[in-house]
Amino acid sequence: MQDEIRKNMLDVLEPGKTEVKFSENELDQLNQQFENADPIEILLWGFETFGGEMVLGTGFGSSGVLLIHFLREHNIDIPIFYLDTNLLFDSTYELRDILEARYNIDITRVTPELSLQEQAERFGDELWKKNPNQCCFYRKVLPLKNYLSDKKAWVTGLRRSQSETRTQARIIEWNEENEVIKINPLANWSGKKVWDSIHHLDLPYNPLHDEGYPSIGCIPCTQPVDASKESDDRNGRWNGTDKTECGIHFPDHYKNGS
Ligand code: SF4
Repeated sequence: MQDEIRKNMLDVLEPGKTEVKFSENELDQLNQQFENADPIEILLWGFETFGGEMVLGTGFGSSGVLLIHFLREHNIDIPIFYLDTNLLFDSTYELRDILEARYNIDITRVTPELSLQEQAERFGDELWKKNPNQCCFYRKVLPLKNYLSDKKAWVTGLRRSQSETRTQARIIEWNEENEVIKINPLANWSGKKVWDSIHHLDLPYNPLHDEGYPSIGCIPCTQPVDASKESDDRNGRWNGTDKTECGIHFPDHYKNGS
């Protein structure tokens, strides 16, 4: 059944992306098959199916570090990229460098068309304060869409336990916004399981995690949290607003740059 689904996928995926369609039934079967699978099995399936047209996107959080390790340990040679908003922490860039050296890889830097200065000239200073959705749109959502425009599958570190918004994440999904198959190999992993693996494998991670930052994004929109209070893995992002997602995973939360 798996080979049949793969063949069907390849049939519809070639030669271009515009006519890509997948039956809900095929996706359901794959998700049933992979619900209890090892993430490495899922990554190997993705590589067999999509080859180098499958890419991993990471913000260098714990899940992303673990996925990079799994890819490299199993010779799954696919492009790895990150969205550089030009507003990331120094420690994030340092972790990128450490991972590139450790695994002998080049991680692709995907950047917005607008520099920070151009953005300020067009929309005013510190757009993230006035309209964070618009800022995320120009610095994350649009660059991602452009980057994925010639790709077929996008691997992410999305996990259901990260937040309320993410509880429905599937292991294999059709991502309408970017017209790619989205693969979330760690969808059913807990944060504890990811961190236990990071420590067990002695993998590098962003030191800000040890300073109260559960989730690390852009400097202006990332805060440490009070460890004595209950929080989820996404707490500390866009504090003081009702925003919980930048829009790359859940475009319905935010569709355009207005
Ligand atoms: S996280 Fe904040 S600074 Fe980064 S792109 Fe979104 S609104 Fe802008």
